[in-house]
Amino acid sequence: MASSSPITTMMKMNCSLPAARLVGPHQIQFRCSSVGPFHNPSFPRTIIARATPSAFSSSSVITAAMTGETSVKVIDGKKVAKDIRDEITAEISRMKDSIGVVPGLAVILVGERKDSATYVRNKKKACEAVGIKSYEVCLPENSTEEEVLKSISGFNDDPMVHGILVQLPLPSHMNEQKILNAVCIEKDVDGFHPLNIGRLAMRGREPLFVPCTPKGCIELLHRYNVEIKGKRAVVVGRSNIVGMPAALLLQREDATVSIVHSRTKNPEEITRQADIIISAVGQPNMVRGSWIKPGAVIIDVGINPVEDTTNPRGYRLVGDVCYEEASKVASAITPVPGGVGPMTIAMLLSNTLVSAKRIHNFE
Ligand code: NAP
Repeated sequence: MASSSPITTMMKMNCSLPAARLVGPHQIQFRCSSVGPFHNPSFPRTIIARATPSAFSSSSVITAAMTGETSVKVIDGKKVAKDIRDEITAEISRMKDSIGVVPGLAVILVGERKDSATYVRNKKKACEAVGIKSYEVCLPENSTEEEVLKSISGFNDDPMVHGILVQLPLPSHMNEQKILNAVCIEKDVDGFHPLNIGRLAMRGREPLFVPCTPKGCIELLHRYNVEIKGKRAVVVGRSNIVGMPAALLLQREDATVSIVHSRTKNPEEITRQADIIISAVGQPNMVRGSWIKPGAVIIDVGINPVEDTTNPRGYRLVGDVCYEEASKVASAITPVPGGVGPMTIAMLLSNTLVSAKRIHNFE
């Protein structure tokens, strides 16, 4: 998907997350100092959890250690994304056996940004794992717009390619809008083409593709049987790639939607009314426990690095929502990492499969 770097700034934590330190191989020690309204005095204040490093976000460990309460449900995006990839693998194999077609995804990368190169590499790996054929064009930083447009045009005409994405950000001398608009709407698996977004916004119209991250948020709500119809939903953030399409999707599902952005006055008064909050801001721990209505469902899209001297990398990733506080108030919440992140790439694979099926009339 045309994503920008999730790691843009290094910031210190501004939410009193419990200290977490590695106390041995695959062991994390949490020091729980919470004394909030839901604090359970009988809960041990120090827990040694055996965990693989990747299980830092594992639902059981985080839920028990961070909340001191067991009622919050951790929405496990990693597990849901794996289930979806397995479903896609089975469908691709059925398609190949029936009509001999393998879905193809083309990625255009311009420039030498390391983060972009990593994203493209990860997408390629994910494609291979489910049986999607990936195509790639890497152009130097000083390429012209015409060279990029020529690559897009080649993929638009290539019957082996069913999805095209241009890795963002593009070099500053390029007109991003002109380039994204050149991707033919039938292969716009990112769902960013104005025609797809326009259809998403209109009643009675169907977009060919829905942008991957917001689609992943809604899929998580569906798979965890969270009712959307008739509920109050608040989306924090209004970017073209996450916040705005997430709000449109919630509205299509008959939620009553409000959007909070950087000019919103008293955002906490608005979020406190929400049954569902989707946050896509890029500010670590901005949404505090006091911003949340008891029992609300929280989908945290934010991926923010915060300084962490206990981590060999010197930082760790947190969401826009203060997990420690939110998990004492919410009924369900996505962790960061391990929540929305893995869903984005799963939705990209899903959109590519949908495209191949549509182009080849395969049910
Ligand atoms: P973006 O383009 O920078 O948009 C941020 C939005 O948040 C803007 O609408 C901005 O409002 C709003 N905002 C900023 N500060 C605010 C504040 N203090 N109060 C209320 N609203 C505020 O960011 P994005 O691309 O949507 O990404 C948002 C976050 O999601 C980032 O952490 C990013 O890394 C992450 N992300 C994750 C995935 C994933 O796969 N999990 C995918 C994409 C992005 P204005 O419009 O008024 O400026």
